[in-house]
Amino acid sequence: MPVEVRLPDLVLLGLVDAFEAEHEEPRLIARRLVKARQVERYHQKDGIFTMARRANGDCQFLDEVTRRCTVYEQRPGTCRKHPQVGPRPGYCPYGAKRAAGGAGDDDAG
Ligand code: SF4
Repeated sequence: MPVEVRLPDLVLLGLVDAFEAEHEEPRLIARRLVKARQVERYHQKDGIFTMARRANGDCQFLDEVTRRCTVYEQRPGTCRKHPQVGPRPGYCPYGAKRAAGGAGDDDAG
């Protein structure tokens, strides 16, 4: 599942600095991040950036071995809200669903 974020999330992740976020057009920021393969696409109307994924569909910030989020403290708002309860700290809420084939949540990471 692709992760959709907003500009403040990109600042939190360290992909955009605060000055750039304030002074540059989001579509130009998106162009740079698409070129760097960090963003898949930008929805200008909604101001939503779809984060790039690995070939297997994993989030680029998911540790392939531990299945933990490598940016947990800086993770985007959508990851903080989904799901409202669980998983364990450090683990990706989306990773658990993918591993379970979309059948539901578990806390296996
Ligand atoms: S919580 Fe999961 S989807 Fe969100 S940034 Fe971390 S690894 Fe990616």
